[in-house]
Amino acid sequence: MNAIIMYTFQLLNIKHGNTVLCCHVLFDLFEAVIEDSFLHQGKRKKLTALLRQKGISDSGVLNAIGSIPRHCFMDSAFSENAYEDKAFSIAEGQTISQPYTVAFQSQLLRIRRGEKVLEIGTGSGYQSAVLCFMGASVYSIERHRKLHDSAKVLLHKLNLKAHLIYGDGTLGLNKIAPFDKIVVTAGAPIVPDVLVKQLKIGGLLVIPVGNSKEQRMLQITRLGENETATIAYDGFAFVPLIGEHGWK
Ligand code: SAM
Repeated sequence: MNAIIMYTFQLLNIKHGNTVLCCHVLFDLFEAVIEDSFLHQGKRKKLTALLRQKGISDSGVLNAIGSIPRHCFMDSAFSENAYEDKAFSIAEGQTISQPYTVAFQSQLLRIRRGEKVLEIGTGSGYQSAVLCFMGASVYSIERHRKLHDSAKVLLHKLNLKAHLIYGDGTLGLNKIAPFDKIVVTAGAPIVPDVLVKQLKIGGLLVIPVGNSKEQRMLQITRLGENETATIAYDGFAFVPLIGEHGWK
């Protein structure tokens, strides 16, 4: 898919006089127009170099971040800044996570092609897109209808086939469980046991846990029916996970 997009981009190289202002890309698919440019692509390349410097080494993650047009997942007012390593506001008072955070969580998940992954907190759909691009079969839950709807339209336009669900993600998705991996992209007060129970034995849960200001990123391996091992990383700040097994 990516190769087709890149080829189409080259075919649609638009020149203004003698100056190539930018390779304006109009990718027409499912009535959608996704606009990308050499400028955006160059910025993505710089962003992946920065993430590598910051310790992201998983080539699948870096390749996904270097390929997914992040500017499409945020308001066009932020388009120029879309490849800065920063979180930005989206609708409903929520955020699209900082690229480093998306990369760090995705790396902790150790994604292999074909794995069944549950994401709690679809938001803009950007992390779902990264996980899909890495070959995961993605199920993603969002509690805001507006965000759920717009992520659904956008991922469809990008031909990324995530299963998006509207609802309270703290309950997990029992009818599709068990999952190889679960990632929570909002800050939780505790680890919801219901999510651990929806992992396969040997599966991984990546979840930020803490207070409303800062959280530690936990990478929890389900070792057995009632046994887990946890590694924690400091220094994250997410919007709150709100729901039955989250903040009230
Ligand atoms: N992964 C997102 C992205 O790439 O844009 C980042 C999402 S944002 C940091 C966290 C999201 O979690 C918000 O959209 C918020 O509405 C959602 N959220 C919070 N509590 C939730 C819950 N119980 N179930 C589903 N989504 C929830």
